[in-house]
Amino acid sequence: MFSNKLIKRILHAYSLTFMTGAGISAESGVPTFRGKDGLWQNHDVQQLATPRALESEPELFWEFYRWRRQLLARVEPNLGHYALVDLENRYKGFTLITQNVDNLHIKAGNRHVLELHGNITRTYCSKCGKEFAEGEYDDTPAVPKCTQCGGVLRPGVVLFGESLPSAILAEAQQAAAESEVFFSVGTSSIVEPAASLPYIAKANGAYLVEINPEETPLSAHADEVIREKSGKILAAIVLALERIA
Ligand code: NAD
Ligand code: ZN
Repeated sequence: MFSNKLIKRILHAYSLTFMTGAGISAESGVPTFRGKDGLWQNHDVQQLATPRALESEPELFWEFYRWRRQLLARVEPNLGHYALVDLENRYKGFTLITQNVDNLHIKAGNRHVLELHGNITRTYCSKCGKEFAEGEYDDTPAVPKCTQCGGVLRPGVVLFGESLPSAILAEAQQAAAESEVFFSVGTSSIVEPAASLPYIAKANGAYLVEINPEETPLSAHADEVIREKSGKILAAIVLALERIA
């Protein structure tokens, strides 16, 4: 499953960083985007989740995001998410970085989450930038509009082709560089710049661990590869730490 060496390293570490991808939410029933899940009503998601689609086909764009929001609102965190809440409570030097937009880390109870690709539950104006909480804007028209400037609203996610929030990325890069143990959990490790973070960690001396049932481009570079589902493994790691403590 995992080595005793890993548990010892975690026990003695000050700084632990976890980076998660769509795989950590798979056990909650959230579909990933690749393969056959990459289509929605015969539209290619990689074409739909773009600034161009928001501009040229805002009705279709919003139909897709409403569908995703409704799907995600019904989904609950799993053991993997809850294990990360436990670890945040135990370690001062804990950092959680996610590529997911599904809000499940926050729903589970993590307090500080570096959301590299945003969060689908948030909404802001594409023209003036004003942020809206749920219920603060009229969500009945096919394309919701800003109450301040009339601009088209959009979900608070990074669309394909957009750059990542620079301050959050910088914080993630620094955490990677400072971590003693870095975990890559449930990510295909191909979407940049997130895919580079484990290499930054390793180049700065971190013990690099991958948790993923499938091989990825990162696997060959990891110090330890755990080929299992993240819910089971993260819960087992917390249990092992509790037994020793
Ligand atoms: P991905 O879909 O490319 O890869 C998912 C990885 O998870 C795969 O390598 C797969 O082998 C692994 N996996 C599947 N089940 C697992 C399990 N139970 N435990 C551990 N690993 C498991 O996901 P990605 O690397 O995060 O990149 C996809 C992009 O799409 C990201 O940019 C992300 O923002 C977005 N996305 C987000 C969500 C979400 O918020 N939940 C869902 C789909 C896509
Ligand atoms: Zn506005």
